[in-house]
Amino acid sequence: MLDIPIVYDGTIAGVVCHEHVGSPRQWTSAEQDFSALIASDISLSLEIDRRKAIETNLEHQAQHDALTGLPNRSLLIDRIDQEIKHARRSGSLLAVLFLDLDNFKQINDSFGHLVGDALLVSISGKLKGVLREGDTVSRLGGDEFSIVLTDLEREEDIDEIANKILTVIQQPLTIEDRELFVTTSVGIGVFPEDGDTLEVLLRNADAAMYRAKERGRNGIEFYTEDMTVRALAKVTMIANLKRALVNDEFEVYYQAQYNIDDRELIGLEALVRWNHPELGLISPDQFLPAAEESGLIVALDRWVMRTALGQIQQWRAQEVPAPRVSLNLTMQQIDQEGFLEFLTELIEQTGCRKDAIGFEITEGQLMTNPERTIELLRVIHDLGIEIAIDDFGTGHSSLAYLKKFPVDTIKIDMEFITGLPFDEDDVSIVRTIIALARNMGIDVLAEGVETEAQFNFLLDAGCSLVQGYLLSRPQPASLVFAAAWPVVSQSSSAAESS
Ligand code: C2E
Ligand code: CA
Ligand code: CA
Repeated sequence: MLDIPIVYDGTIAGVVCHEHVGSPRQWTSAEQDFSALIASDISLSLEIDRRKAIETNLEHQAQHDALTGLPNRSLLIDRIDQEIKHARRSGSLLAVLFLDLDNFKQINDSFGHLVGDALLVSISGKLKGVLREGDTVSRLGGDEFSIVLTDLEREEDIDEIANKILTVIQQPLTIEDRELFVTTSVGIGVFPEDGDTLEVLLRNADAAMYRAKERGRNGIEFYTEDMTVRALAKVTMIANLKRALVNDEFEVYYQAQYNIDDRELIGLEALVRWNHPELGLISPDQFLPAAEESGLIVALDRWVMRTALGQIQQWRAQEVPAPRVSLNLTMQQIDQEGFLEFLTELIEQTGCRKDAIGFEITEGQLMTNPERTIELLRVIHDLGIEIAIDDFGTGHSSLAYLKKFPVDTIKIDMEFITGLPFDEDDVSIVRTIIALARNMGIDVLAEGVETEAQFNFLLDAGCSLVQGYLLSRPQPASLVFAAAWPVVSQSSSAAESS
């Protein structure tokens, strides 16, 4: 037998074997050379295939995101240049959507990167499912995605697809037996009016996405020119916020909460304000998204807590009968290492009773990681601190979880109060929430009550806890008890003292 090895990728992958049947014989050098040539030719062609595969793979890797397999920014730019040329010739619309998940960081922080990764893969699958042939979805990095829609005839088509995206994303996902809830904010730039290169369109869609975040997330915004200025401002916002914390530029306002059955002041909600040295009073909607995104919210809310508890201590010293003060907290805060120590220490230092404060957490935040939330809130609730679900009705919570959360109060979101008593949908939603709360033995509070008609509807419907401009606006601590007692007799003309 004459065996010559075939070498492939540095190892012997096989042999070229010549067999002579009969009496043994020597192989001539010509025969040996011939066999060696065949073996080396095979090795060579295998090697060429291997390199080609490597090159193709490298090319693919260079143009795709390793985790989701979606095109990356560089492939996107390649493809979209072509699409933009096509849109220019055909006069059709092209839209660039910029997506940023709303609560990815929280999920990543509490469940770990593997779950975060699995979530991103699952989201990319959902996105591909919504799109038409010819549309391109790509991952820009982190929890940011971009979608390019082509061959559109009307702007309404863009709106329709974007809404479809919101809907599929907010369906719960099951990863490692956990139910996860995510939402996304979408900004949109349209060719040709919002830019004629992908770069500009993406940048403008990004600015629009920030507006969607500011407007409460889980929403869609089309780009408008004034957003560029705001996006620039955003870059300096975080630095400004840090400086503001150091310089003590924040202030806590308090808004009264009443029981309208017996006309009793039952609570004060602490609402942060930014007293900017040049810009004046800035409302939280303008700076909280940046504070949350940068993690500064943890320090800011601790400042609010310290200030509010200090205020309670002061009121007690002055023998002012202050009711419970509600603090708005993020789950990020409560899940922070050392939060319980911070809280108990603060309570001790200020000598506040635990029933002197309550926490408000939005429904959306509670539902991001419900199992973990239940665990964390139990501990706090067991300390004797009351918990309210804020913005109820907007955060798709499930009844199964609602029963398990240790909550004392549901705050019906202002969105549903606005239409009372005429809007039929609002009426039935509010009645349903009131009935639900009653059945579960939970208090229900309506926020954003601005008119007497709303007030009377609520009184009638059995919602006796109320908060809103009609009764009292948020005001600085010095003015909360300055009005004649009881403050409830204030009319709708009471003005925010700022
Ligand atoms: P929220 O917790 O839902 O607070 C109620 C918001 O509605 C407040 O806005 C309040 O001023 C406003 N409001 C109250 N009554 C009425 C009314 O009758 N009509 C209208 N149109 N608005 C009314 P604000 O103070 O601008 O706060 C906005 C949001 O920012 C709050 O919504 C809360 O989610 C957040 N926030 C405020 N302070 C803090 C804080 O210290 N920490 C954290 N994490 N979030 C805060
Ligand atoms: Ca609140
Ligand atoms: Ca609210």
